[in-house]
Amino acid sequence: MTDTNRRLVLARRPTGMVDDTTVRMEEEPAPSPGPGQALVKVRYLSIDPTIRTWMDDRPGYLPPIGLGEVVRGPGVGEVVESDSARYTPGDLVFGMTGWQDYVIADEGPASMQVIPPGVAPELAMNVLGVNGMTAYFGLLDVGRLQAGETVVVSGAAGATGSLVGQIAKIKGASKVVGIAGTKEKCAWIVDELGFDAAVDYRDERVSARLRAECPEGIDVYFDNVGGPILDTCLAQLAMRGRVVLCGAISLYNAESLPPGPANYLNLLMKRGRMEGFIILDYVDRFPEAQAEMFGWVAEGKVRSAEHFVDGLEHCTEALNLLFTGGNTGKVIVRL
Ligand code: NDP
Repeated sequence: MTDTNRRLVLARRPTGMVDDTTVRMEEEPAPSPGPGQALVKVRYLSIDPTIRTWMDDRPGYLPPIGLGEVVRGPGVGEVVESDSARYTPGDLVFGMTGWQDYVIADEGPASMQVIPPGVAPELAMNVLGVNGMTAYFGLLDVGRLQAGETVVVSGAAGATGSLVGQIAKIKGASKVVGIAGTKEKCAWIVDELGFDAAVDYRDERVSARLRAECPEGIDVYFDNVGGPILDTCLAQLAMRGRVVLCGAISLYNAESLPPGPANYLNLLMKRGRMEGFIILDYVDRFPEAQAEMFGWVAEGKVRSAEHFVDGLEHCTEALNLLFTGGNTGKVIVRL
């Protein structure tokens, strides 16, 4: 194999948003698969906010990316050469490809999953991938949604949030309110995805709108953003309300952390619960959720959107879209 592997390595730990100096493009010969391995040509990269957290030298649920290491991230690739019974050339596979052209898949438990024929790569990366699984288990398992309840979700026009609202409606939520950053996003989640209402947090008073939309309080708040929006929702919890801590994108570029949520005492007053989760803990249960989500997609009950960016060299710009709100739906880099 004489092809070149272009790889983006972490050159410098970012302060604030990533930029051109955060990563460095390196080239090396594409690796050769050994016994039990396959060579995978990366086709798509899933751009996720958590990649930004892995660039910091802070303890997290996975170790930080080391300086000089390929930027860690999930992706979809095509098997181009195989010395493994698990992989056949032409298979599409999903796993931790990293920001590079080629990667070796092996037969270990954490290696690549073959995508069933007929499943589009973007579906495997979004609704049937990390975002869909996060929305499903976060809402139903951590949030313990019951039919007839009121749900509020932030980051509502993003990959995860847009699915949370749709699953909530399917599971019988009486009211689903999304919080998003533009009028166009708010119109999309209401008109196209079936949310009951949307709040443009950049242009409206979130607390007043939520009070009007959820007069009995919020039963489940699915938090993708943290910061002041979390605090506002804490203040409006219904009795025995649940706050699902999925992510806190408003903090991932922050150089110092803001004071904690002032309204946490409402958890006590309302006998509420706030619980974080990491979707990796649910991997064994993915098949049950994927089967249900696949059915909903086939029936037209769940819709998704993808925001494509072309070229490995544009990965940092793609990552920043998540923080500027430049995306609607799942950000994917096409190689
Ligand atoms: P999204 O597709 O939702 O993109 C992020 C969105 O967040 C942007 O589109 C932007 O939309 C919004 N946003 C950015 N900055 C702010 C801010 N300061 N305040 C409010 N909104 C903001 O990304 P994902 O669906 O991939 O991820 C959503 C969240 O879920 C993240 O916090 C992520 O870390 C978390 N996550 C957690 C997992 C887990 O295992 N717990 C697994 C996967 C994701 P807008 O225009 O509306 O501002």
